[in-house]
Amino acid sequence: MTSGTSTVHPYTLIRSPRARRLTLHIDPERGLEAVVPARLGEERARREVEAFIAERSRWVDRSLAELAQRREALGTDGRITLGGLIPYAGRAHRIRAAEVSAIGVADGEILIPEKVAASEGLLQTRLTTWLRRRARSVAEQMIAVYAPEMRVQPTRLRIADQSSRWGSASADGTISLSWRLVMAPPSCFEAVIVHELAHLRARGHGVRFRQIVERHLPDEAARMRELQRLAPALGAVR
Ligand SMILES: [Zn+2]
Repeated sequence: MTSGTSTVHPYTLIRSPRARRLTLHIDPERGLEAVVPARLGEERARREVEAFIAERSRWVDRSLAELAQRREALGTDGRITLGGLIPYAGRAHRIRAAEVSAIGVADGEILIPEKVAASEGLLQTRLTTWLRRRARSVAEQMIAVYAPEMRVQPTRLRIADQSSRWGSASADGTISLSWRLVMAPPSCFEAVIVHELAHLRARGHGVRFRQIVERHLPDEAARMRELQRLAPALGAVR
C-alpha cells in the first residue's frame, strides 16, 4: 500500500492479487483508496488510477463530503428528547417539535408533531417506534436488491434491539437486525445486510463466506470496521 496524489485528490493505492479491475472506495480512516489488480505495475496503476479519479471527481467529492458527515454523527449526545442530537442515516439530527402531522426527517432535523412533543414519555415511545419502522423499511429495500442477486430468500425479517450484535441469520432463514442500524450510515447498514444474507448460503466466516460477500460488496470488511467504530455512538442512543 502506498499513497499518491492525483491532480486534485490524495489517494492510497492498493495492489491486490484478488482485484480483477480498478475500483475506488472511501475508507473511513484513510479516505480515498484505489484498488488495482496486482499485475499492473506501480507506474501504470498510478496513471490509470489518476485518470479514473479525474473522470469521477464528482463522485469522489460527494463521497468525501459524506465521510465528513459520518464523522459528525460521532459527536451526537444520543438523547431521545426535545433538543437531543441523535445520528440518523449516519448524520447528526436534532430532535425538534414542529407543525407536522407525523414524525419525519428534514435537513438534519427529526421533526416531531407538537402533540407528541408535549410529553417526554410519548416522544420516547413514538420516536423509538418510528426508528424501528424506518429500520425495517430500509432493510426491506436493501434485501429486495441483494437477495435475488445473491440467490437467497430470507423467510422472516426481525427488527430487534440486540445490543451485542448488529445482525444474525438463523438456519430457518430468519434475518434479525438491530434497529440501531438505521442510525448508521446506509453503507454500513448495507454491509450488515449483505453479511447476513451471505450467511444464508455459508455458515461461519470461512473462505466460501468471504467469497460470497466480496463478490457482492468488495469493501464489506471496511464498512463493518466503520460500523464498529460508530458502535459506541449508536449504542448510546436512548
Ligand atoms: Zn457473520
